Amino acid sequence: MTNTKNRLALLAVLLLILLSITLPSALAQEGITVVTNEYETVFGESITFHVAAKSENQITGIRLYYKVGGFPSTSHAYPEFEPGQTVEAEHKWDLVLNYIPPGSEIEYWWKIEDAAGNELKTEPVSFTYEDERYDWKELRSDRVILYWYKGDDAFGQALLDRALEALDQLKHDTGVTVEKPVKIFIYGSHSDLLGALEEGAKEWTGGRAFTEQGIVVIGVSPGNLEWGKRATVHELTHVVMHQVTDTPLGGLPTWLDEGLAMYAEGDLESVYVAELNEAIESNTLISVRSLSSSFSADPDLASLSYAESYSLVEFILDQYGEEKMTHLINIFAQGAYYDDALQEALGVNTDGLEDAWRAWLGAPPRLTAAEATPPISQPSAPTPVAPGPPLEGVCCPGGLAAGVILPALFYLFSCGQKPD
Ligand SMILES: [Zn+2]
Repeated sequence: MTNTKNRLALLAVLLLILLSITLPSALAQEGITVVTNEYETVFGESITFHVAAKSENQITGIRLYYKVGGFPSTSHAYPEFEPGQTVEAEHKWDLVLNYIPPGSEIEYWWKIEDAAGNELKTEPVSFTYEDERYDWKELRSDRVILYWYKGDDAFGQALLDRALEALDQLKHDTGVTVEKPVKIFIYGSHSDLLGALEEGAKEWTGGRAFTEQGIVVIGVSPGNLEWGKRATVHELTHVVMHQVTDTPLGGLPTWLDEGLAMYAEGDLESVYVAELNEAIESNTLISVRSLSSSFSADPDLASLSYAESYSLVEFILDQYGEEKMTHLINIFAQGAYYDDALQEALGVNTDGLEDAWRAWLGAPPRLTAAEATPPISQPSAPTPVAPGPPLEGVCCPGGLAAGVILPALFYLFSCGQKPD
């Protein structure tokens, strides 16, 4: 009997301890209830987040947290609402002001507080921001997901095959492999593409690589497959290289970034070959040091910059080989200053590389800083600028150009050829 009483008493004590541990958090959970938690997307315009909640106490605080895949930062908003026991709140993300590309992954959650100090954090909701205006077909592989809507299955397959072939070549040349499948959206025309880019996108834009999100957006009409293959491979290479080499030290010098993208496209197109030969003959090659930062906005200089970048990559692979190129990329992947990385992998700094490259080309010796003309302008505008008509065959005028996009600063590339 005594034993049973003792046991009961012990049980009661245990129960009390248990309750004292679990009660406050149980109350906090029950204090606030989410009634609805929804979002609505209007492509190119807005994403509206809506929440309704109730509590026995006055709800005093509502915050929305959201982030875009590929960016480390989380944004938050304080939507206006009428405090009470039953509340509703809405936050509209203006996609015209804060552009994101199709295929972006979004995650969001709410934090709701009441006057009694209860706090509720909803489970994160993830969704993909899709361009529902078109009936997309898709082809999936382990490294690339290709979406298109205009053109037959063979068209999509040809683009995917070329992309995978280029990735094999990139792996062979640089050791770089795809970390996360890259999404490639093929819009069926140039005007469709512009309709999917941010307002004010340059009319000559042929495609974009959104390196942080791992997304490529290009306009390729079915009759323009060969150009489409080049553009796709070019932008894809930028995304893959950035997956590997984005570091706080700034990644790759522009000539290497653009050179690898140009090299991936295939043989250098004749217009660039002519530019390069002319610059060699007239001793007007742009210095490799200049090409380490953003390319000139001047169309002629930009075009020559791409030609030289291709040539430099070809030179390194030809004279130093894939192993040293792989070593160089590995050093950049760890984060390094340009001269240090080149010195360690190739045994020359930027100027030494230029000297060796010029000798290989049969070009005159490098100009000293005082002799070099003309100075290369460094555009600092948020979007690349290419005055004048579209540049035939020229991709990414301005090279690496910074674009401000929610929620963080990211890099974007633009192609300077109007595809159709
Ligand atoms: Zn490029």
